[in-house]
Amino acid sequence: MSQLTLNTEAESSYKPTLFVALILPLPVPKQFTYRVPRSFEDQVEEGKRAIVPFGKRKILTGIITAVHQQAPEGYEAKSLIDILDEYPVVSAQQMKLFSWMSTYYLCTEGEVLNVALPSGLKLSSESRLQLNPEFVKEEAPYVFAEEELIVLELLEKEGLLSYAQLCEAFQHQNINKLIKSLLQKDAILLIETVQERYKPKTERYFRLTDSYLDKENLEQLMESLESKTKQMEVLLKYLQEVPVFRNATLNENGLAKKVITDSSLSDSSLKTLVKNEVFEEFDKVISRLSHSELATYEADITLSEAQQQAKDQLNEAFSTKDVSLLQGVTGSGKTEIYLSTIKEVLESGSQALFLLPEIAITTQMINRVKKIFGEQVGVYHSKFSDAERVEVWQGVAEGRINFVIGVRSSVLLPFNNLSLIVVDEEHENSYKQQDPAPRYHARDTAIVLGTIHQAKVLLGSATPSFESYYNAEKGKYGYVALTERYGAGKLPQIQVVKMRKEKAKKQVKDDFSKSFLAVLAEEIAKGNQAIIFQNRRGYAPYLQCETCGWIAECENCSVSLTYHMHQHELRCHYCGYRQKSPAVCLQCESSELKMKGFGTEKLEDDLKQLLPDARIQRMDWDTTRKKFSYQQIIEQFESGETDILIGTQMVTKGLDFDRVSLVGIVDADRIMHYPDFRSHERAFQLMQQVSGRSGRKDDRGKVLIQSYQHDHPLFKYLIDNNYSGFYRSQLQERQSFLYPPFVRIIKTIIKGNDQNLCREAGKHLYTHLLKHLGSTRVLPPHDPIIAKIRNLYHVELWLKLERGIDLNATKGFLQQSVQAIQEEARFRKLRIYFDVDPA
Ligand code: ADP
Ligand code: ZN
Ligand code: ZN
Repeated sequence: MSQLTLNTEAESSYKPTLFVALILPLPVPKQFTYRVPRSFEDQVEEGKRAIVPFGKRKILTGIITAVHQQAPEGYEAKSLIDILDEYPVVSAQQMKLFSWMSTYYLCTEGEVLNVALPSGLKLSSESRLQLNPEFVKEEAPYVFAEEELIVLELLEKEGLLSYAQLCEAFQHQNINKLIKSLLQKDAILLIETVQERYKPKTERYFRLTDSYLDKENLEQLMESLESKTKQMEVLLKYLQEVPVFRNATLNENGLAKKVITDSSLSDSSLKTLVKNEVFEEFDKVISRLSHSELATYEADITLSEAQQQAKDQLNEAFSTKDVSLLQGVTGSGKTEIYLSTIKEVLESGSQALFLLPEIAITTQMINRVKKIFGEQVGVYHSKFSDAERVEVWQGVAEGRINFVIGVRSSVLLPFNNLSLIVVDEEHENSYKQQDPAPRYHARDTAIVLGTIHQAKVLLGSATPSFESYYNAEKGKYGYVALTERYGAGKLPQIQVVKMRKEKAKKQVKDDFSKSFLAVLAEEIAKGNQAIIFQNRRGYAPYLQCETCGWIAECENCSVSLTYHMHQHELRCHYCGYRQKSPAVCLQCESSELKMKGFGTEKLEDDLKQLLPDARIQRMDWDTTRKKFSYQQIIEQFESGETDILIGTQMVTKGLDFDRVSLVGIVDADRIMHYPDFRSHERAFQLMQQVSGRSGRKDDRGKVLIQSYQHDHPLFKYLIDNNYSGFYRSQLQERQSFLYPPFVRIIKTIIKGNDQNLCREAGKHLYTHLLKHLGSTRVLPPHDPIIAKIRNLYHVELWLKLERGIDLNATKGFLQQSVQAIQEEARFRKLRIYFDVDPA
């Protein structure tokens, strides 16, 4: 009897030890188990961040994926140090998506997390703290706890402290609370915030404290200030600008501090008044757009008849399909259809995501969207600072932001109630991430994200990817076409300039045919504008010795160096290597060095000579590196200060210019003959896209394409605006040579500084895979066209997997095979990774 009692007692007080499974931002495939100290038991929850010790010295931040009672086998679990969040930062849906990404793209969940989380959310041992330079302890309107004061003192002495150092100094379990509190009091800065000085969209305001809204108190105050003229002036200024006597609620809005600082009134008097609690300061969120800017945009969306019809058809398609493809010619107004659909979704209270290629997210676009949707819009762009990205992340997680317009990584945001995803320019290969892992395709990931949320996915393009068009044709996706331009606009007239003939007739000057130049001069004379497209920057892509044939190559990469005239130097576009351009051949010392080929810089230079009166600008990577230069070039072109805009891919997207009547594609051959199975698909998409910039409003635009192969069948399809014909002609080739959409490609990339070793590893892997998968699926390893980049040699091995194969099993087998290879000591130092569905 007594024994029994004892047992029950023990049971009732027995609480099992909790453990958490964590994903850490490391390239290892497993999750880690940590013990939960009693004091954190109430706080642990899936999706929250936990700080844990790792190895001997490191402290890492991980995401909790599970809370359980299973002690790990074979080792003693360490205890977690701290829980960072009050609410989960990673939602359950995100967790699902990340897990899918790691399986599908053959990488670890840690790698996904590392890319997904903005670094402001990644507080790790690498994070550093410093004092906020604007912080003055004596003036701070807060009381500091003893420990906080110690931290401040430490920082004052040391300048910078890492998170790990602080942990050490304090032996304190709740160091994070301390940091958070100091951050809230604006006393310290996390170093990430410092690197990219985040310009908050807030402004400092001040207003009367509540007690002085009382008339009597205020009158007393004024009496007491009679001798303090300067303070009195500030107070009077306030009362003049914010007449609280007339309406006390006006006080709420306060007055911008800069009204005082900008006037001759005393700044320090204001400070004193704040200190004496007459005034209180507060931050006010200021819209980045002034109202005058926004005024030029329509808040309403009025669809044309054709657009409305397309939208209705889309709605119908979505009643049976989860994904639909909208193919609309350039200038048909796909954006209006997207926005109108998004509007409905937001009005129903759910979230929407609008994905765009990076260069298509222009100020024009953002302003338009903000005008319609106001504050619930979050813009997610890689050019934005980390702080801004954290803001969007948290806004989405907390439901303040219901609509995100963003680049590919916005599929990784913590949505919890997504109903619609729009992927504009879905064929764009910039949706595919190259490096680092996860090498994901944002369009395909968006489709999976859609499934997780049961959201609809709308893909849009004038020239869809073959994969999407194929799926639409097979009935897997819905399909809607929009064949006319908005308004009276007509599609441009495309003409191919027969360069072989022109050359034979000696009608080619520099890199332009004379007929091309004549049309260009004529259009400019008429007051029209032109865009010249050349997908290569710099002056000349080769510098070659006429005597011995030597070509200037990069020291670190197997590519030729590009000559840049403005700096008179040779540059590698792969690793950034640069050197002064040599005066003589480095092999035979001949001075017969000749520039071969041409880039945007040379075209600009030539045209300035050929058309000395034309105002010419160049837009490429080199001219847009400074912060506002891109915007500036566009504005100058828009306002008509520029006649001719020469540029790379950058001129092809997201821009609407009213007066462009001519688009010139100078070197079509180079676009078409890039050695890749997609080169024709790409060339067609690119040329059609560029052409689309011509003749937007009432005039029919012209497009001139220079080619030495004018009879190439691609041109006929392009001229006839016959996408489907072109698609069909290419599809046969894809089928007979086994390329997507008929197979999936998985590239295995082997990298190392010993080329032979890479090749040997490739051979080993090949032999192993061949045995199990057969020669149709496994191609022999090969050196890619650029076999060396930054002193690392590359070897590639391709798998072609037919539809219907057990993809997961095959991928698992591939991963095991690579692991087996890397167990051999000599191969261990090679880097081997995968690229699934390479772009
Ligand atoms: P697409 O993306 O299909 O090439 P855009 O969405 O850029 O086409 O539209 C082309 C131009 O026509 C833009 O300047 C756009 O503002 C204008 N436009 C299209 N539809 C409408 C509409 N319904 N109302 C007003 N302007 C429109
Ligand atoms: Zn030489
Ligand atoms: Zn290089």
